[in-house]
Amino acid sequence: MAATRTFSIIKPDATRRNLTGAVTKMLEEAGLRVVASKRVLLSKEQAEGFYAVHKERPFFNDLVSFMTSGPVVVQVLEGENAVQRNRDIMGATNPANADAGTIRKELAESIEANSVHGSDSEENAAIEIAYFFKPEEIVG
Ligand code: UDP
Repeated sequence: MAATRTFSIIKPDATRRNLTGAVTKMLEEAGLRVVASKRVLLSKEQAEGFYAVHKERPFFNDLVSFMTSGPVVVQVLEGENAVQRNRDIMGATNPANADAGTIRKELAESIEANSVHGSDSEENAAIEIAYFFKPEEIVG
């Protein structure tokens, strides 16, 4: 099967605790290759735009505040079945429900501060990658 790509964010709770390397190691050990990466501080507008699909949800404002509370690392990951592979290593949204060995179970703080974002479909992966990266910034 050909390699595909997905989009990942190492969230502010993880960068704050100096876990960028720990998260990346778990991604790499799951068979994903980091083909683009940058550390950025999201603006309110960027975070609102990225999570626009959630704008009617009760947690939206808190989520935007959290995602702008410190640096994030945005990444493009490549591998076989990258979207699902990344979702599997991330674990459930709420770390309390996540399987042992997943990033969220091992590292996350709470349902909000859950250390990582990962695209939920190939279609969204393409949209999310384009939201943060120019084609020439991705080096496979
Ligand atoms: N989130 C939250 N409260 C909730 C559900 C979600 O704060 O009750 C946050 C959490 O950071 C999550 C993000 O909103 O990762 C996006 O939610 P989604 O349901 O898309 O979960 P994911 O795909 O990240 O597992």
